[in-house]
Amino acid sequence: MLKKGTLIKGKCTSYSNEGEGVIHLNKEVIFVKGLIVGEEVDILINYNRAGINYGSIKKIHSLSKDRVTPKCKVATACGGCAFQSLSYHKQLEYKTSKVKDAFKYIAKLDVKVNNCIGMYNPYYYRNKSQTPVKKIGKKIVTGFYKAKSHDIVPIDECVIEDKRSNKIINSIKKIMSDFKIEPYDEDRRYGIIRHILIRTSLHFNEIMVVLVTNCDSFPSRNNFINVIKKENPEITTIVQNINKRDTNVILGEQERILFGKGYIVDSLCGIKFRISSKSFFQINPVQTEKLYNYIKDNLNLKKNDTLLDAYSGVGTIGMSLASKVKEVISVEIEKSAVKDAIRNAKENKINNIKFICDDASRYINELDKLDVLVMDPPRKGSTPEFLKAVNRLKPTNIIYVSCDPNTLARDINYLKDKYIIKVVQPFDMFPMTYHIETVMHLVRR
Ligand code: SAH
Repeated sequence: MLKKGTLIKGKCTSYSNEGEGVIHLNKEVIFVKGLIVGEEVDILINYNRAGINYGSIKKIHSLSKDRVTPKCKVATACGGCAFQSLSYHKQLEYKTSKVKDAFKYIAKLDVKVNNCIGMYNPYYYRNKSQTPVKKIGKKIVTGFYKAKSHDIVPIDECVIEDKRSNKIINSIKKIMSDFKIEPYDEDRRYGIIRHILIRTSLHFNEIMVVLVTNCDSFPSRNNFINVIKKENPEITTIVQNINKRDTNVILGEQERILFGKGYIVDSLCGIKFRISSKSFFQINPVQTEKLYNYIKDNLNLKKNDTLLDAYSGVGTIGMSLASKVKEVISVEIEKSAVKDAIRNAKENKINNIKFICDDASRYINELDKLDVLVMDPPRKGSTPEFLKAVNRLKPTNIIYVSCDPNTLARDINYLKDKYIIKVVQPFDMFPMTYHIETVMHLVRR
């Protein structure tokens, strides 16, 4: 390992799984945030972890032509985005090649991977922002925690969040200052407001503000809320969430609606969804619609099909396909998501869908017939039990939506004997970050 404080010279040759530039030097591996393939640099070693040295850029001797000026002022200090300095075109190329590599090295398959489908405007896409509120000196600041710490990096504009959220957060900070409402201080256990959470609707003019407080009520709350409403008439609902615990979990159990209906409505592929403070909802609705439409257009669904939507969340994929098939069965382990899903289906008058709250691997083993499968597991992927059941049920078509190409490539091992990989299509759901979403379409041999 290289000692902390060592200065090294090297050349970046690839990117890590989390988007850091990688330098190989003798037998050492160095990961550097914000470094671009091809660049020759002086690097300061900051720390080591699990056999890897982590460093920061001291001097770049040869700038890559793919380097762009980050739109964000705190791009290197904040832990949120890995690729603010890399041109968007190259980000998409990186994501496509990561998926290809995963298939090559993990599944030992040389598959054609379509070019990652990106955004026309890869900024201001997030419909949910949750920011801690702190005080630095006399100033109230919001921002993000530095990677792996509780130090805040103050920021007035996050360039991947909806512009409307940025404006409201800045306004609330100012009003807090005017009303002398203190941010909560974890060390001194003093103060009121811990986090501001904002959710915006893409298709309807609805915005929810959630003020996470350390106490039930606080002086001049009503006036404070009235001024927030007056200065930000675009807000349609305000919720107070009370979290008195000493915890990293942002939201507490107890909530009080201070204004409006307590939730917002957005839609995906024409289907409306109710979103409250804790609801799971995809954070990039523009790309989500592209992805769902892609599934619908490629699956060749038939009126008589029974479709299983496994790992279904609030039921969005299944609902977007329901009109094309006889019946959709959705299975999801989280009770609250299933509850939301049932209400969403009812409100959209979708009757040929049922929701099962269960472990997908357990439930699929109860089935004896299945025509089409859509599966969208969490990062850790699916399980051997689930995939073996798929081989037994032999659905004609499978769509596997994955948020980690490595587990996708691991899971294909179980299916490749009985299925042909028809399409592998990455989608950029999270521009500027290293996250990769992939849709894989399998057809029974
Ligand atoms: N398909 C949804 C959500 C996918 S996220 C959408 O497009 O919005 C993955 C989902 O899998 C989460 O909702 C998570 O709660 C659920 N999940 C995780 N483990 C599970 C399991 N063992 N069985 C069923 N669902 C599970």
